[in-house]
Order: sequence, then structure tokens, then C-alpha cells
Amino acid sequence: MTRLFNDPRAFADEMIEGFVAAAGRWVQSAPGGVVRSTQADEPTVALVIGGGSGHYPAFGGLVGPGIAHGAAMGNLFASPSSQQVYAIAKAADRGRGVLLSYGNYAGDVLHFDQAQEQLRAEGHDVRTVTVTDDIWSAPVDELHKRRGIAGDLAVFKTAGAAAAAGYDLDGVERIAKHANARTRSFGVAFTGCTLPGASEPLFTVPAGKMAVGLGIHGEPGIDEVDVPTADELAEMFVDKLLEEIPQGVELEGARVVPLLNGLGNLKYEEMFVVYRRVAQLLGEHGLTAVEPEVGELCTSFDMSGVSLTLLWLDDELETLWTAPADTPGFKKGSVAPQRAAAAVVADEVDASVPDASDASREAAHVIGAVLASIADTIDEAADELGRLDSIAGDGDHGIGMQRGSSAGSDAARAAVEAGAGAQTTLTRAADAWSDKAGGTSGALWGEMLRTLGARLGDTDAVSAEAVAEGVEQAKDAVMAFGKAKVGDKTMVDAIAPFADDLARRVVAGEGLRAAWGAAAGYCERAAQSTSALAATLGRARSHGDKSIGTPDPGAISFALITKTVHAVLTQGEQTQTKEQ
Ligand code: ADP
Ligand code: MG
Repeated sequence: MTRLFNDPRAFADEMIEGFVAAAGRWVQSAPGGVVRSTQADEPTVALVIGGGSGHYPAFGGLVGPGIAHGAAMGNLFASPSSQQVYAIAKAADRGRGVLLSYGNYAGDVLHFDQAQEQLRAEGHDVRTVTVTDDIWSAPVDELHKRRGIAGDLAVFKTAGAAAAAGYDLDGVERIAKHANARTRSFGVAFTGCTLPGASEPLFTVPAGKMAVGLGIHGEPGIDEVDVPTADELAEMFVDKLLEEIPQGVELEGARVVPLLNGLGNLKYEEMFVVYRRVAQLLGEHGLTAVEPEVGELCTSFDMSGVSLTLLWLDDELETLWTAPADTPGFKKGSVAPQRAAAAVVADEVDASVPDASDASREAAHVIGAVLASIADTIDEAADELGRLDSIAGDGDHGIGMQRGSSAGSDAARAAVEAGAGAQTTLTRAADAWSDKAGGTSGALWGEMLRTLGARLGDTDAVSAEAVAEGVEQAKDAVMAFGKAKVGDKTMVDAIAPFADDLARRVVAGEGLRAAWGAAAGYCERAAQSTSALAATLGRARSHGDKSIGTPDPGAISFALITKTVHAVLTQGEQTQTKEQ
């Protein structure tokens, strides 16, 4: 239970503000998160990490000499937006290139990839290595589908040390991949975490039970067992991790870094009791533990739980793991003196809008009204959307959509007031939506609104055909970007039938309002019928079967939004009829 907060919606921002105030020796605030407040004499490759907030010391707490150069800090448990990652990477690049590294979650991948594309287009040399240490999140032959948990630190620390040692970008990338390939983690939880202002934890574990295979965003475990003794838990951890020794590692005489990580609400003393047995077991297997860590390395808000990570060393990784580091949340040895870095200056925002025709401005008015109405509808539905997402996902779909739609509505209103046309209004709303929402759905909604806007333009009058085509293109964009197909239990299961039905009706000559209304009804049924499916993509994937019987939250919110749009279009029509 989180007790201390002001407005829960401001929690992440206020937390970052306080963190920067407290940790100025290492970090300074920059658009999107933090970068170092110091710099080495010689420019190095920049390691930029990031993720949702709520995992301290990950991610901002790992910025400083020897580890990261910057961290994009998203909202609570929500991936940072591509704008945040872009801004942090740009501020951190000292001309030797940027390695982006973060835990492998669908939302983070979408936003970081988008930022990488933009940075590359502007001439930055950027590479990405995602962390995939959680052995419970996918089978060993699908390593690329695994998510990142406390093993983040093993990858960030060694890659950051390689950068500090002067490795070039190829070298830092190679180390990050190599460290990730040799890092495995196993976690358990005793209670779920409760986000500020929420009345319920994101998941619960029955008294006396332990969830096995937890996620660090409140994703529930894979299995529930009786709470073991400390020694039994240590045995479970070590036995399981030794079943999966990474390729290229000889068990006999191997050297490993054990990281025993508290998830936020477990006593250090309890962890030491567990670690005592972990150390004994590693010794019994002939392994040497090298500079272990016991403590909070990657938390999950106030969740009670613990994970064990093993980083399997070779000589190079050992040199990098034991190299000095000095960050707010992780210290080792003593680093060379650093100079103060120049303060980061934010780019000025250009609020002016491109020229638009009167017809397009009129359409922009309707778009502004539609977005305002969407924000209201989502506000009302947020709790229910969060509940749906907590059954097999991480419970943040409601708050993410709330942040996104409200920012989208504000940006659209500002654009309309400045005289923008349909495309500019939708583009501004898209950028604000994906920036403030974070998460998978934030990136996808940004993509949809942007694509629809591109079809409508700022000069043409908005016709039913243009809208139907724009919606089809938005569907294609979401499918290309998120790689989901119909039947994967995502919002695509609502978008595709909606877009196709709308297009069919418009081609057959129905007016926009009537066609939209009928397609929205069809969409609602399609969204509901995702109940029968098992999730295969996104956060819900590792809990696929748990989601059977519950519709996909992203599909439900999409259907709700199509219904809201129809209501606004109909109101518009009634007003017009009255006026006539
Ligand atoms: P996150 O998954 O990052 O927590 P949200 O909870 O806001 O983001 O959104 C979850 C929704 O995103 C899911 O219910 C699903 O509809 C949608 N989603 C997840 N992955 C994909 C994907 N690859 N393609 C399309 N939609 C997806
Ligand atoms: Mg979610």
C-alpha cells in the first residue's frame, strides 16, 4: 500500500523532481528523464536506459559514472514515450554513438524503436540491446520473447563499464548482448503492489502462498505454491537456474555474479538468510560467486517478493562487472574524478500551425470535440479498463488511456484554437497521446491518429471516403508497427473488423454517420468476443490462458471510442437539423 502521495496522477513527475533534487551529484533533469550531471574528460559511447517508474533504483538511479549516461523515465509502470527516449539519447550522445538498453516489454520496444529510427534519421549512430533474463516469461528456445527483470543491472553495468573503458559502439553493443545471453533470473512474490491512489493491489497472492515467476509490473505469477522456508526458496532458485546454463558456459569451476533482488517490500535481513543458502549451494556446485549483490536492484513498487539472477562470467565480463561505478543507486570501487557537465537546455516548442483551408479547419473543430468526448468517456471507463488489464496484463490500461486521451484532447484543442487543419490537429493529438500515455497502447494510438491525419491532410474537405480510407490505413499501420494479427487477442481484433466494415459501408454509399454507427456496433461485438481467445502477444502473453473469459482491454477501449465518436457525430447532426 502506498501511503504518501499528493495527486496520484502527479506521482511520477513529483517523484522524479524529488529524485533530481536529492541526487544532483550524479544526475540532472532533462526532457524525458535524467542525464548525468558530470562528464568524463574523453567522450565515450552513451548508454541510455529506461523504462517505467516504480522500479527504483532502475532506471534513473543507475545513471552516473560507470553505468548509464541517461535514463528515460516513464510514468508508473508505463514505458517512456519515444519522445522521451529521443530527447534523452540526444542529450546524452557525445558523438561516439548511443546504446539503448532496456527490459524487453512490448510497449518499451515500440517506443524505443521509434526513437531509434528518428535518431538514426538525424545521423546518430544508435543500437539496441533488450534485456531478456526472466526464465519464466518464455521457453528457452524463445529467448527473444522473455522479459527483463533484475538482470537489467548485469547488462547495464557491464555495458556501462565497457563504455567507460573506451570501447567503441560495436564493442559496447557486443558486451551488452553477451552479458544478456549469460544472465538468467527467477522471481517469486508474496503480495502484489498497490499503485498510489489505487484501492486494490494489482494482483493478490493467497495468504501462505507464493507466486512463482512474477513480473515486475504486477504481472501475476505463473504458478502458486506454499511459502517455503528461506533455505527451500534458495534451493528452488539455484536448482532452476542451474537447469538452464547459458550456451558456452562450463558449469565446472564457473564464476558467477549472484544478484539477490528485493522487489520493494522484503527485509534485507530476510534476503541475507536466503542468500546464505544460495552461497552454500553455489559452493557445493563448484561455482565461485564474484562480487555478489543482495538488496533492492530492480523493484516493483511495494510488492513483496525476491528474485535471484546469475550472470555467468568470462574474463572480460568479470573485468567489466568489477570495474568502479558511482550512481545514486549502485556503487562499486572508486571512479576517476569527473567534471561538471553543461546544463541540458530543452528545445523550444513551436506552437504555430501550418496553413489550412476553411473546410479542413471546420473538420478540425469536430475532431477537437471528438477527442474531448473520448477523454471524458475514457475517464469514466478507466477503472474498468484497468481491472480488465490486471487479469492477465499489468493493470495500467485505464490510467494509460486516461493520460493519453486527456493529453490528446488538450493538444487538439490548442491546435484548433491556433487555426490548425485536420491533419495538424490529429498529429498534435497523436504526439501528445503517445508521449503522455506511454505503454503499448499509447504508441499504437499515436500511430493511428497520425496515420488518419496524414490521409485527411490540412487542405481537403473531409469526406466519408477519406475517413474510411484513413481508418483502413490506421489499421494497417497498427498491424505493421505492433505486428499483431487478427486472433492474437489485441486491439487489432476490434480495429480490423471496424475498419473493414466502415470501408465496405462507405463504398456501398452509406453516409459517414450511419456507416460509422453500424461499424461501431459490429466492433463492440468483436471486442467482446475476444473473451474466448488466449493472449499471445504483449504483456498478457505470459499469462495467455488466464485471459480466457475476459475480453482484451485494448479492444474494449477501442470499441468504446468508436461508440463515442459516433455519439459526437450524431450530436453534430442533430444540432445541424435543429438549426435548419
Ligand atoms: P501495456 O501492454 O504496455 O501495459 P496497455 O495496458 O496500455 O499497455 O495496453 C494493453 C493493450 O495493448 C492490450 O490489451 C492490447 O489490446 C494492446 N496490444 C498489446 N500488444 C499489442 C500489439 N502487438 N499489437 C496491437 N495491440 C497490442
Ligand atoms: Mg497494460
